Amino acid sequence: MKYCIRTFGCQMNYSDSERMTTVLEKMKYQKAEDFADSDLVILNTCSIKQPSEDRVIGLEKQFRPLRLQNPNLRIGITGCMVRETGIRGQSNDRLFKQMKSIDFVFQIKELMKLPDILHELHPIESDEEVSDLLSYFHISPKLTNATQVFCPIQRGCNNYCSFCIVPYSRGKEVCREMSEMEEEIKKFVKRGASEINLVGQNVNSYKPTDFDKNSIDSPFAQLLRKIDAIEGVKRIRFYAVHPKDMGDDVVNLYGELKSMVPHIHLPLQSGSASCLKRMNRRYEPDKFRELVHKLRARVPHISISTDIIVGFCGETEAEHQETVDLMKELKIDLAYISKYSERPGTLAQRSLKDDVSLETKKRRFREMTDVIRDISNDYHQQFVGQTKEVLVEKVEKGYASGKIPEFKLTRFESDDKELIGKYVPVTITEALDWCLEAKLSIS
Ligand code: SF4
Repeated sequence: MKYCIRTFGCQMNYSDSERMTTVLEKMKYQKAEDFADSDLVILNTCSIKQPSEDRVIGLEKQFRPLRLQNPNLRIGITGCMVRETGIRGQSNDRLFKQMKSIDFVFQIKELMKLPDILHELHPIESDEEVSDLLSYFHISPKLTNATQVFCPIQRGCNNYCSFCIVPYSRGKEVCREMSEMEEEIKKFVKRGASEINLVGQNVNSYKPTDFDKNSIDSPFAQLLRKIDAIEGVKRIRFYAVHPKDMGDDVVNLYGELKSMVPHIHLPLQSGSASCLKRMNRRYEPDKFRELVHKLRARVPHISISTDIIVGFCGETEAEHQETVDLMKELKIDLAYISKYSERPGTLAQRSLKDDVSLETKKRRFREMTDVIRDISNDYHQQFVGQTKEVLVEKVEKGYASGKIPEFKLTRFESDDKELIGKYVPVTITEALDWCLEAKLSIS
């Protein structure tokens, strides 16, 4: 039996897919090249905006002919689009109505139920180890890249930002113990990992039971110190930060800990206090401004990326302009911009009106993109002529590419697949709008 997992969305989903792979391979499923070659397809979905869901629903037309070719094919969905766990006929998840080809859905926090679901749909030889799965966090991930690992420190969220579906799809926040994180990361490092990506919905609110209650550091700052102290850890990144919970203790680790990279992703969403209030973000633009200044005081050239939603419910021209102005003032060098789309079941869908026209959303999206592109290009110029280390993630079409510590996508000519997962010194030759061109440095 062969499986194929297609992952959409954020680092959290990629990390979840690695755990899912472990479960499937323990059940003796083998990795397939694509859908056509599979007996089992699992879509790990994102629901942050309507186009993300549309991409998944659009796959339906590919599945119909595949099912005719392979009557054994089973198709399941997990991730943020799912609200229940169960097989068609036993669950009322809305996705069964929207996608006639799917056989089952499961909430990722209930990954341990996947073997039972598959035994029912795909009778295969049982495997003792599969029944040993204790909980989502105890499933060891099958890493896609041994150098760069994604480690979930928590799942779920208690924040209820009014536009967001995550608290409903992933449930309340649950944190992993700090000792367990440390042990897992030590194991990864022994297997060759050196870039540690900590993922959670709001890493700053990380609160295991085994943190040091006498320390002045928050539990998340304590965790960062412990990971930095592990021999072999070279880069630490983390996602996602909530500005309301980001304290000085974490800010002050920049420039102090050897492995804190000069980059942070700090989601803003809007630069307008009134809009942030409707989004239920519980901070004002000044809090974000202050964080940026403090981070730059620690590391002057730090790269700061953010998330922006344009056209949120009731967003006026003046509110949109406040966001544009804040981006220019703070010179935010990268932003993931999305046009607001209503998500069923969220606070915004229940209590606010999605009243900004699509045309206006598109125009604001273009304006914001233009502003960020200019800032990004300016920021990139400083790297020209510098030598940087790229952690290579991909080699294709004659180019190797990956990120420098500042999280900038950098590519150089090479066909050498052996470079994947290696740190390669390069000299930056050209700064483009969204990436850097380089050549291999002679060492
Ligand atoms: S912090 Fe807000 S945006 Fe992030 S997952 Fe939680 S509810 Fe969603």
